[in-house]
Amino acid sequence: MPTSDLFNRTIVVFSQNYLPITRVTMQRAITLLVTGKAQPLDLFEQTSWEIRSPSLVVQVTPQIRLMVNGGDRIWKVPPVNRREILRRDKHQCQYCGSHRNLTLDHVIPRSKGGKHTWDNVVTACETCNGRKGDRTPQGAGMVLKTVPKAPIHPAIAFAEQFWHSHPTTAP
Ligand SMILES: [Zn+2]
Repeated sequence: MPTSDLFNRTIVVFSQNYLPITRVTMQRAITLLVTGKAQPLDLFEQTSWEIRSPSLVVQVTPQIRLMVNGGDRIWKVPPVNRREILRRDKHQCQYCGSHRNLTLDHVIPRSKGGKHTWDNVVTACETCNGRKGDRTPQGAGMVLKTVPKAPIHPAIAFAEQFWHSHPTTAP
């Protein structure tokens, strides 16, 4: 019989093309398997679990593969706005790390031709933004904590993180 521990597990879902795309609950994985939308995928020759109910037996593996093309949802790069920039930068000033009085800073100032794009807008606290003024970070002698860039597709981010945590089996 399934224990509550088993039902607390999460299952990695692969696309039809064997790309890890997301993680779902055991219940969701069982639904996908029972409805034929997914099949077991024992990628690392790990255990599988036999889930029994009065009417059926389901083999659940730590990874399953979708048999339908449901993993490729339409995704667009989010717009460059305060909410999305602060989310990317984890609500942290990209110069000093402060979480308070956050504003948006154009790395190359707009007056110097800087654009309102993902790679030129960062989170900065009022103090750092005021100190930087109408200068580039180099001009102001300030250093960015990370190079700003556009968010990537969540499935690609998931795949990178997944293979990073399974280095011995990376293709
Ligand atoms: Zn700051």
